[in-house]
Amino acid sequence: MNIGIWVLGDQLWSGQAALASCEQERKHTPVILIESRHYAQQRPYHKQKLVLVWSAMRHFAQELRSQGWQVTYKIVDGFTPALNDWIEEYNITEVRVMNPSDRTFTRLINNIQLNCPINIVPNNHFLWSIADFQKWAKSRKRLLLEDFYRAGRKRFNILMDGSKPVGGKWNFDKQNRQPPRHNLPTPPALWFTPDEITQSVINEIKSLNFPGYGEIEPFRWGVTRQQALAVLEHFITQRLPTFGPYQDAMITGEETMWHSMISPYLNLGLLQPLEVITAIEQAYLKHHLELNSIEGFIRQVLGWREYMYGIYHHMDEDYSQGNWFNHTEPLPDFYWHSSHTDMNCLHQILTQVEHTGYAHHIQRLMVLSNFALIVGVSPQEIEEWFHAAFIDAHDWVMQTNVIGMGQFADGGVLASKPYASSANYIHKMSDYCGNCNYNARDRTGKQACPFNFFYWDFLSRHQEKLQSQGRMNLLLGHLKRMDAAEINQIHSLAHRWRQKLRHK
Ligand SMILES: Cc1cc2nc3c(=O)[nH]c(=O)nc-3n(C[C@H](O)[C@H](O)[C@H](O)COP(=O)(O)OP(=O)(O)OC[C@H]3O[C@@H](n4cnc5c(N)ncnc54)[C@H](O)[C@@H]3O)c2cc1C
Ligand code: SF4
Repeated sequence: MNIGIWVLGDQLWSGQAALASCEQERKHTPVILIESRHYAQQRPYHKQKLVLVWSAMRHFAQELRSQGWQVTYKIVDGFTPALNDWIEEYNITEVRVMNPSDRTFTRLINNIQLNCPINIVPNNHFLWSIADFQKWAKSRKRLLLEDFYRAGRKRFNILMDGSKPVGGKWNFDKQNRQPPRHNLPTPPALWFTPDEITQSVINEIKSLNFPGYGEIEPFRWGVTRQQALAVLEHFITQRLPTFGPYQDAMITGEETMWHSMISPYLNLGLLQPLEVITAIEQAYLKHHLELNSIEGFIRQVLGWREYMYGIYHHMDEDYSQGNWFNHTEPLPDFYWHSSHTDMNCLHQILTQVEHTGYAHHIQRLMVLSNFALIVGVSPQEIEEWFHAAFIDAHDWVMQTNVIGMGQFADGGVLASKPYASSANYIHKMSDYCGNCNYNARDRTGKQACPFNFFYWDFLSRHQEKLQSQGRMNLLLGHLKRMDAAEINQIHSLAHRWRQKLRHK
C-alpha cells in the first residue's frame, strides 16, 4: 500500500486527520496541494479571499516540506489530471483525503475519476463530528442552540464548576449588547504586510483578470499559522477584556471594533477551535477577566460555530433552496457596488467589505442580511453574494447563517423568529444615521428611512405566516393598530422602491 495525501485548501493544519494518519511515515508519504484556477472562478470571489487561500496553501506546503513530507504543489485548471499525474509519479495505490467541511466538495471528490481508490477519512477540524451532532440531535424535537451550547460546555468541561456553569449562569448577555458611546477607545487591529509569497499571489491574480469582487490591495490578512496565533494573542490581550459590552455596536470607520477577526483562520484550519477556547478560558483564570466577555466569546466558538456546522450536515441537501417567505426580488446592484447607494449604513458597511472582505456579525445580520430580508430578495441570491464577498465564507457556514439565520428561509429550524428590524435598531446601535440622507424616525414621507417602510411592509405582507411563529405578536398587534392611510403609504413607498432597486 502506497498512500498519498491530498490536502484541501481549508485543511491547513498538520494535525488534520489525513496527515495525522501517516505522521510516522511522513518522510515516505507524498502529499499534494492543488490550486485550481477553474474552481476559483465558480463565483466572483473577493480577490482577497483568493489571495488568502492560495498564499496560505503555499505557506503550508513550505511548512510541510520543512517537517519532512514529500510535497507536490500544482497550479492547474482542474483537479483530476493533476491528481492522476501525481498518482503515477509516486506509484500511489490509495489517495487519502480528509472529509471536506463542505458537502459540495465531498460530492466533487466522489465523482472524480482517479487511477486508484480514494479514501475519505473523518474530518477533525470541529469539536463535534458529524456523527456526534447526529447523536445529540436524534432525541430532540427542536435543535436549540442554547441546549447544544450547554451540552458542549459540559462535554468539553469549559467554564464549568463541577456540573454547574461558572458564575451560576449560562449566559451574561444582559451585560453585553450596549450601544456605542461617544469616543469609544477601540483597540487597533493586528494586520500584516504581504511577504514575497503573498505578493506574488497578488501579482498573479491581478494578471489573471478574474472578474472578482472587492479590492485586492491593501492585503493585510495573516497567511500562516504563526500569524493566526499572533492575531489570537492580540485579541486576548487587547480586545477580549472588553469584547462583551460593545460586540453589537457599529461605528463609522471602525472595521473590526472588539471582534477577534479569527474566522478566516479557523475556517482554513490555521487555528483549531479547542485551542482558541482553551486560550480564552486560561486568560480568564489568569487575569480575572469579566465573565460576560469571556462567556459571550466562548458561546460564539463553542456554541454558534459548532452548531452551524452540525446543522449544515444534519439537514437535507435541499436546505440551501429554502424560501419560506417565497421571496423572489433580485439582489439590489449596490451590494456589488457600494457607491450606488446613499443609505449611509449600507454604504459604510459595503465599502468596508470591498476593502477587507470582513464585517462583524451585527453588520452582517442586522444591516446587510436584514435589508435583503425586508425587501424580499431571493434567499439564494443574497446567499450567493455573501458567499462571494466574504473572506471567511464557506458553504457550511454560509447556508446556515444566510439561508437559516439571516433570511429565515428554513421556516425556523435555526432561529425562533426572523432577524428583521426597522431603522430603530441601527439608530440605537450605530452612529450611521446621524450622517444619512434619510431620517431614521420617519416611516413615510420624503426622508423616510427605507428600513422603516420595508420593515412594516414585510410585517404586513407576511402577517399570517408570522402569526404562526408566535414570537412576533407584539409587533403584529402594533401593525394592526396602525392607521390605514399610513399603511397604504408604506405599501406604496415599498412598491416604488422595489421597482427602483430592480432597475438600477
Ligand atoms: C448573514 C451572515 C453571514 C455570515 N457569514 C459567515 C461566513 O461566511 N463565515 C463565517 O465564519 N462566519 C459567518 N458568519 C458568522 C459571524 O458573523 C462571523 O463568524 C464573524 O463575524 C467573524 O468575525 P470574527 O472572527 O471577528 O468573529 P467574533 O465576533 O470575534 O466571534 C468569534 C468566532 O466565533 C465564530 N462564530 C460566531 N458566530 C458564528 C456563526 N453564526 N457561525 C459560525 N461561526 C460563528 C467565528 O468562528 C468567529 O471567528 C455570518 C453571520 C451572518 C449573520
Ligand atoms: S437612516 Fe436608515 S438608511 Fe440611513 S443610516 Fe439610518 S438606518 Fe441606514
